[in-house]
Formats: sequence, structure tokens, C-alpha cells
Amino acid sequence: MSVQLMAAKMAEVELKDVPNKELSAVSPVTPKADEKGLLNSECNASAPSPTSQATVKGDPSPVTSTPNPMKMPQASAMKRPDPQQNGGEAFVNRDGTVAEAPRMKKIQFADQKQEFNKRPTKIGRRSLSRSISQSSTDSYSSAASYTDSSDDETSPRDKQQKNSKGNGDFCIKNIKQADFGRREIEIAEQEMPALMALRKRAQGEKPLAGAKVVGCTHITAQTAVLMETLSALGAQCRWAACNIYSTQNEVAAALAEGGFSVFAWKGESEDDFWWCIDRCVNVEGWQPNMILDDGGDLTHWIYKKYPSMFKKIKGIVEESVTGVHRLYQLSKAGKLCVPAMNVNDSVTKQKFDNLYCCRESILDGLKRTTDVMFGGKQVVVCGYGEVGKGCCAALKAMGSIVYVTEIDPICALQACMDGFRLVKLNEVIRQVDIVITCTGNKNVVVRENLDRMKNGCIVCNMGHSNTEIDVASLRTPELTWERVRSQVDHVIWPDGKRIVLLAEGRLLNLSCSTVPTFVLSITATTQALALIELYNAPEGRYKQDVYLLPKKMDEYVASLHLPTFDAHLTELTDEQAKYLGLNKNGPFKPNYYRY
Ligand code: NAD
Repeated sequence: MSVQLMAAKMAEVELKDVPNKELSAVSPVTPKADEKGLLNSECNASAPSPTSQATVKGDPSPVTSTPNPMKMPQASAMKRPDPQQNGGEAFVNRDGTVAEAPRMKKIQFADQKQEFNKRPTKIGRRSLSRSISQSSTDSYSSAASYTDSSDDETSPRDKQQKNSKGNGDFCIKNIKQADFGRREIEIAEQEMPALMALRKRAQGEKPLAGAKVVGCTHITAQTAVLMETLSALGAQCRWAACNIYSTQNEVAAALAEGGFSVFAWKGESEDDFWWCIDRCVNVEGWQPNMILDDGGDLTHWIYKKYPSMFKKIKGIVEESVTGVHRLYQLSKAGKLCVPAMNVNDSVTKQKFDNLYCCRESILDGLKRTTDVMFGGKQVVVCGYGEVGKGCCAALKAMGSIVYVTEIDPICALQACMDGFRLVKLNEVIRQVDIVITCTGNKNVVVRENLDRMKNGCIVCNMGHSNTEIDVASLRTPELTWERVRSQVDHVIWPDGKRIVLLAEGRLLNLSCSTVPTFVLSITATTQALALIELYNAPEGRYKQDVYLLPKKMDEYVASLHLPTFDAHLTELTDEQAKYLGLNKNGPFKPNYYRY
């Protein structure tokens, strides 16, 4: 069976149902300027000009004239929301702190003349890591390393490493942790049903046969499940970490023991970080033909150091807000050498990141920091968007009395319909036990509100910016700050009243809890499908532009997760499909539909 037919088996959807207009490339983000760095780099002298249609062989309208035998949903350049206009995201720094995302985030890349042999001292390494780019850290990681090898001071780069089969093409902290890492991976597999289903559906067929995927993501148990799935589908993988602190060392060990070329450990320096990426790319007898990136650092490295590699690279799959934004900038500047898939803005991923992830992690973050009991507590949630809805639903289910503040009458009415009291903050500020901001706005809770809160009130933020709560206004001489736990401060007024401020007003869940594996499963499945699609796409289907995954692919990702719940999806009858004007196999909603 051909690769295409295999893929068709895996995704039983008809490409011909994807509307033609979805395939025209659109670059929705207009770069403010042709920034130095990535934007100014060229693929190579002979690389096709991204704007030149003549360099793209094949039919200009591939969907109608070249039916896709894979029957895979096809990516499309649908207009995406501009993250800069949309509240952006939280950025977890490589030093573990969470920072506000600037409106236009510029990646600071390593000096291109970097020489890896001139390695800094340990102190030098640490200070370097603080100056490292935040660019690749705006995605989720559920990293929680349970092994502590911090007493081993030797840099992994200074160790001779081999797995039990004698393979030494990796660089990790400690191969002896492999068994423990394997158990972590097995736990993650339980919550990543779609990837496991993809493995089964492949049934020996290899839609990624011949694919050489170089990846740069958080190296966690969830990523390991993705890598092992890609491998089961036929790909060869080499991997580095996109974050110097998020690597689960035991998982990296399990991957290395399993034969993967992994270059990552927790607590890398900046120098180590780029060295690891380089070891993935710069290897004799092996050249990547697919990139899976999270933040754009890997893509940038190849652009700068090995531009001729793009001759063989079939596509880039990018997960993060920042990485996607830079791809759109490249595209707009006519400098994108290959097609790219924007995984970040797919409907399913967005929904899981905002609504469902926050519905779970608000409770997790509050519990871990305060051990608060939710039943009967009065809570005010500022903002009833996706994040606010998730927070309110969770707290209501726990027996809290929930108030909502909103500026938008539509969201306000939704809050009323959902049974929440819509109030102005100052109406309830004296009585509430917990205040949660999730507006994406600034100065939602100001000093005047903080002054009026009752003793013991817990204050936290779930929005991306640490300016939602005016924390700076609390840094005045008459107030005393007491750090009572990691990420927990008591701010004490002269009369003895104290409020409990969490994560200094930074994003609570990313600072104080983990992200559910199931949320990451959605992203990982979308990444895998995007790789399959780009790798198998006939020449000319995708130009040098950034594509969004079509609704069909989102629907497919969702459908792969349904069996976990023994969910039984109703099928349209022919008569019903005709009545609604739909194909029985989807897509079931127009692009403008809001779920
Ligand atoms: P959204 O736009 O759907 O909702 C925000 C809501 O806040 C809107 O309904 C808006 O009308 C309301 N609002 C704005 N200013 C207000 C004010 N002064 N008082 C009361 N309400 C106000 O956005 P969202 O998807 O819910 O995201 C909200 C924030 O959370 C963003 O900053 C986003 O980046 C962030 N976010 C966090 C996580 C997380 O894991 N914590 C996940 C996704 C998004």
C-alpha cells in the first residue's frame, strides 16, 4: 500500500471537500519592519523565491485538478487572529519565571560566530542563560522532573555517552535514568489516545517513511510519545530542547536508550542550547527534510547556519505564538523558503489551551499554592471570555459562589445565562475570598481594590500579562511583603490585614501548576498530522507560505480523541447531509463558526 493510501486510511476524509478558497495563501500579519536576523536571511542563492510562482512546479490550483489520494485534510491559509491583537500569550522564561509577552516579540538569537569549543565556566553558563531568548518558551510544557541529578556537576558535553546497545549519538544528563523515564512515557501514553490511535491505524504502513524530522520542543514525556509515534509512522528523528529548563532528564534518557538522537538536559546554558540544536542538524550523512519547531529557534539556526538545507526541507511545522508570528513575517517579507504549518491557531488547540486547560488548572494552581477549600467561598472572576468561562465553571462545580465582571454585554449576558451574578468589582471586593483576573487587559485590579479587600483574600491572575493586577502599587513602604511559599506572598497592611498574592500577579497556572497531558495530546496530534500532510503533499500544493490547518483536520484530531470516552458520534444520513448542504464526512462548520 502506498504512503498516500495509508494516510488515506488514517484520515477518512475527502480532500476534494476542502473549499478551493482555503488554499490561497494569505499572510495576515503585516510585519512592522524587515527585522534583522531571520528576516534578513536568505535560504540560499539557488533557493526558489518564495514569491515567485514560477518556482513552484505543479498545478496552480492543485485541489481541483490534482485530487489528493491521501484523503488527508489539507492545510489552508485561512485568516488567523493576530496574536498581538488578541491578548497574546504568557511567556515562560528559560529561567523558569513567567513574563509578560511584549506586543511585538523579537527573538534574540545567538551570535552566529559562536564557537562551541570556547565554553564558558559554569557561572558564565548560568548568566548566559538569563539573557537567552524567550522566543521558544511561549508554549506549554507539563515538565516535572522527578529525578534529581543536580549533584552531578559534570556537563553532559564532557561525558562519553553510550546506551546499552553501544549507540552514542545523543547527549543527555544520565542514561541510567532510562527505566524511570520509560515509566513516565507510559503514563503519558494513557492520556494521549490520538497518537496511540495513529500508531495503530498505521498498521505497519509508514506515511512518514523517509521523513527525517529535526525537532526542537519541550522534551517531556508527552513529546516522547509524539516522537515515538513519528518513528512508528516511519520517520527518523533528531531532537533538541526548546527550553533550557523544561527537559525531563529521565525521559531524555529513555529516548536515548530507545535509539533516538536526543540532545538536551535540564539546566542547559545558552551555549549548550545552541550546541544541542547544532548537533541535531549538523551531522554527517543525515540531513533533515522536515522541521518541527516550537518558538522558531531551530528554524532560525538552519536559516543562518545551513541555508542550503532548505533545498531538501519539505516543510516547517510550528507550534508557538512567537514562532508562528515570525513565520508570517518571513512570508510577508518574501523570505520563507518552504511551506509552513501554523499549528498554534488551529481551533481545537485554541479551545483546549484556553477553556479546558484553564478549567482544570485554575483549581490546581490555587490548591498547590494555598490549600484553599473552594466550597462556599466567594470568588470574583474578572473577564468572561474563554479563560474566564473555564475558571467560573470549575469553581462553580466546586461549590464556590462565583461573581463575574465584564465590559462586553455579550459575554456579560452569557455569564448571566450561566447562572453567575454580574457585578462591578467594587460591589463585591469587600466580601470575596478569591479574586481572579482573566481579561488580557491591564489594571483590572488596582490599589484601591486591594486596599478594600478583606483579610486573607487570595489574589491571582490567569491572563497573559502581569499587569492585570497592579502589583507595582503594592510596593510601597507602608506595606510589608512576606514570602510564605514559593510563588506565594503575603502583603501586609499596617493594621495587620494581609492579602495572599500568587505568582506576583503573573499567570497562575503556568507559574504554579502543570498542564494536563490531554491538552498536549491535542497539540501533538495536530503536529503529527501537519507533518504527514506537508511531507506527503504533491509538489505545488503548498507554496512558500504559512498555512492554517483546515477545519477537517481539526475535526479529525477531535475524532481521534473521542474513543477515549467511549463516545458515539452520530452520523448524518444522506437526507440530512443534503438538507444541511454538508458532506457527510465534514467539515461540519464554516470557518467563521465559533464553538
Ligand atoms: P477573551 O478575549 O476570550 O476574554 C477576555 C474577556 O475579558 C473578554 O470577554 C473581555 O470583554 C473581558 N474584559 C476585558 N477587559 C475587562 C475588564 N476591565 N473587566 C472585565 N472584563 C474585561 O480572552 P481569553 O481567551 O479568555 O484569554 C484571556 C487572557 O488569558 C488572555 O490574556 C490570554 O492570553 C490568557 N490566556 C491564558 C491561558 C492560561 O493558561 N492561563 C490560556 C489561554 C489564554
